[in-house]
Amino acid sequence: MTSTPGDARYHFTGSGFGPTVVGGDGAYLITADGRRVLDAAGGAIVANVGHGRGSVAAAAARALDGGAYTVPSWPTAQRLALQDRLRTDWLPATHPNIFFTSGGSESADSAIRLARSYQLACGRPERWKIVGRHPSYHGITGLALSAGSHSSRRAGFEPILHDFPKVPWDDAETALKIIEAEDPSTIAAFIFEPLTGAAGGCLFPDEGYWAAIGAYCRAHDILLIADEVMTGIGRTGTVWGCEHTGLTPDVIYGAKGLGGGYVPIGMVAATDAVAEAVAELMYFTFSGTDVACAAANEVLRILTAEALVERVAIIGPKLHERLVTEFAEHPHVAAVRGRGLFYGLELVADRATGEPFPLQPKFAIEVVKETLARDVFVYPAGSGPFQDVVMFGPPFIITESDIDQMVGVTRQAIDAAATAARRK
Ligand code: PLP
Repeated sequence: MTSTPGDARYHFTGSGFGPTVVGGDGAYLITADGRRVLDAAGGAIVANVGHGRGSVAAAAARALDGGAYTVPSWPTAQRLALQDRLRTDWLPATHPNIFFTSGGSESADSAIRLARSYQLACGRPERWKIVGRHPSYHGITGLALSAGSHSSRRAGFEPILHDFPKVPWDDAETALKIIEAEDPSTIAAFIFEPLTGAAGGCLFPDEGYWAAIGAYCRAHDILLIADEVMTGIGRTGTVWGCEHTGLTPDVIYGAKGLGGGYVPIGMVAATDAVAEAVAELMYFTFSGTDVACAAANEVLRILTAEALVERVAIIGPKLHERLVTEFAEHPHVAAVRGRGLFYGLELVADRATGEPFPLQPKFAIEVVKETLARDVFVYPAGSGPFQDVVMFGPPFIITESDIDQMVGVTRQAIDAAATAARRK
């Protein structure tokens, strides 16, 4: 059992333990040394239609061939086609106004700028705060990192971040007390992941939480912003994760699954009330390039043509059942949670007491090293009180035998990493 170390020439991303990848095929990554690695995480919960889809590459190639760079404020055939498909098949009819970006962090920043601009347009300049949840992750750019609460990604950067209020992810009473103390008339928006992704490993509070937050925000003119970067485009078995919350956000943004991993693209969708107040939002130079829009359009076409979101709702519960069977009693698994094809295992040194593993080396990373040594990739995550998490977010095309392999290998990997941790 050998693992291929990362290429030492490749710096700064901190994930040097991964193999060098030369291609993809369905649910598998192909490495330089000829291995087929089952991508149980869809990369970073991105690759929903699987890797190596020729029709996506062909759509991108057509857009590049004879295409032109066009300022993002102009419509092009590819931008309009993607916008039309999103409006017709994917977005609620209440959210027809779309702004393209190149990813999740840009979308978070744009949604926050949109909320602030909306409050200004409504004559409420004192509203600038964005209430975020603890834990949460909205991205790495300044506004996104300020709104989120991911301990290791914020560590050391606090002095250059905005001091936005944070409320618990699961306790509405405390959350509303914090917002009251901040003064609701200073708050522009409440931002939330319908299921908290990398910061917590698919956390989902009870329905009462969403109802209480939703009612309060409506009563106090606080916009609701849904971060659907991980949960959107079918990942949780519904088109949008916020469908599980009962909330109707004013702004919904997504990224990862929109491009399926083929192109950098994100989107922010707003209601007419928001869009009419904010006529213009400064774009990024690469907002909605033709190549990105064309590839994303083909990813969405595939999802519909192959009924893959419906497939998530069918195969997802099978993954959940296998995870529960394997890990419900496992001594190092404190919780198995999630929906659709989006699951997190919370890992602890002692299930009975909840004692975490030591901070270094990060146990979730050690587990992923062990899964990779067995040709499976799961996503290492976790922050704050949920220090070690591994996540499953496979392509929607996975089979039951892929499920067996990813769950079985993860079990072996946790056991091997725990044995190694005990030796230290
Ligand atoms: N929001 C959520 C919920 C995410 O999980 C991420 C990335 O993992 C982001 C935003 C940031 O997206 P990106 O890495 O594309 O900037």
